[in-house]
Amino acid sequence: MTINTEHIKAFVRKYYHYLGINKQQEISRLLFEIAKRERIDYTKVTESLPKPPTRFSKIKDYLLERRYPSLAVAGQGIRPALFDVAIDPKLKMDVALKPQIQPKNLFIEDSVFHTEMANRVRTHFPESTVERIKTYKEHVGKRRFGIEDYNRRLENFYLVREDYDFFKKCPCSSKSVFCGYFVVNLGSGCPYECSYCVLQDYINSPGIILPANIEDFFAAFRNLGRNIRCGSCELTDSLAFDHITGYSPQIVAFFRSYPKTMYELKTKSDNVGLLTSVPGARNVIVSWSLNPQKIVEAVEHFTAPLAQRLAAAQRCVASGYRVAFHFDPVIYYQGWEADYEALVDMTFQAVDAENVAWISLGALRMTPRLKKIIENRFPDNTLLDEEFFVGHDGKLRYPKDVRIFLYKKMTSWIRRHGKDVPVYLCMEEKSMRLE
Ligand code: SF4
Repeated sequence: MTINTEHIKAFVRKYYHYLGINKQQEISRLLFEIAKRERIDYTKVTESLPKPPTRFSKIKDYLLERRYPSLAVAGQGIRPALFDVAIDPKLKMDVALKPQIQPKNLFIEDSVFHTEMANRVRTHFPESTVERIKTYKEHVGKRRFGIEDYNRRLENFYLVREDYDFFKKCPCSSKSVFCGYFVVNLGSGCPYECSYCVLQDYINSPGIILPANIEDFFAAFRNLGRNIRCGSCELTDSLAFDHITGYSPQIVAFFRSYPKTMYELKTKSDNVGLLTSVPGARNVIVSWSLNPQKIVEAVEHFTAPLAQRLAAAQRCVASGYRVAFHFDPVIYYQGWEADYEALVDMTFQAVDAENVAWISLGALRMTPRLKKIIENRFPDNTLLDEEFFVGHDGKLRYPKDVRIFLYKKMTSWIRRHGKDVPVYLCMEEKSMRLE
């Protein structure tokens, strides 16, 4: 059900004409969220609204109590974010059919035009138009790219020479638990459509960007001169394009010589064909972000089903790799406990704890800007119908007591199978404890 937010705003402007714009905005947002959450037309909600000229605080209290029952819990000191609501139907993402990865255009920077990787990609996409460009930067200029560009990102692939930010510290907020991780900037953009994905907000590009100079990453690692835990998963899925880029065998071959460095390939695919075509290295960790199959179907569009991710993990273990799992984002809903307990059990039935390098936990969170994007790209989502409040880092999060409950439950289920598997929290506040 797509809700017409312009109708809601027009109603509020007329009905509560004596209130200022910001107050009208908050009422419109609350009306929208109540109608969406209760699956009713907003006019049904308006039937029980306090009548004009009721004071704003009374109207807001009524709406908040209906939309955010947790606010009634004394002493939580929490607040929702009541920013402007505006749904543009043109921005809706069509997730009915899985798209083929078949770019219309391959833009290749001059300096990498004749590299092995560029040849490999050209051969993979014989029907794409190839355009030689000086640099990506010059090609896109100062243009800003919006949601409509993001929805069409698979049309354009850019093969570039990456020359900065090869390895950088994980961008956890300074108020969060530091995970000691370094992110490797090996590509940007993902073919999947997880409704909660941060890339929708983060990426300002008209396409998928793939570096064709992996040897420079290896040189940059040598220059770092120390052992780290790192992975190429901040701006992309580490394996979704692997059959096209051919990165993984090169990564394994290189990092095999640095056994004290952990290199993580994190994915929601089952694209492990190239990876398992070479002997595994114990310091190359292949990891999967996991959710119950019901969540995979509802919000992780076009990714591999849960059973296929676990089967891929088994193949990687059989090839000599260790694996890791990220129960992140854990999504809270009625009945989540049974689904997530079964998920943890399935995971350890697929892979023995001794082959699991680590597990991370993180509850669903988002910036207010990302929430707006999700509302527009996935207007039928139910993710946003839960209660989110402004957290320690300005992101919208479940209430703290809910997050503690999620983490403690998840940890207790994990501990039944793996007493010594390292478990850590991702992007959580420092005061949060697991066990
Ligand atoms: S797999 Fe990861 S990067 Fe890709 S859409 Fe999902 S969350 Fe985003």
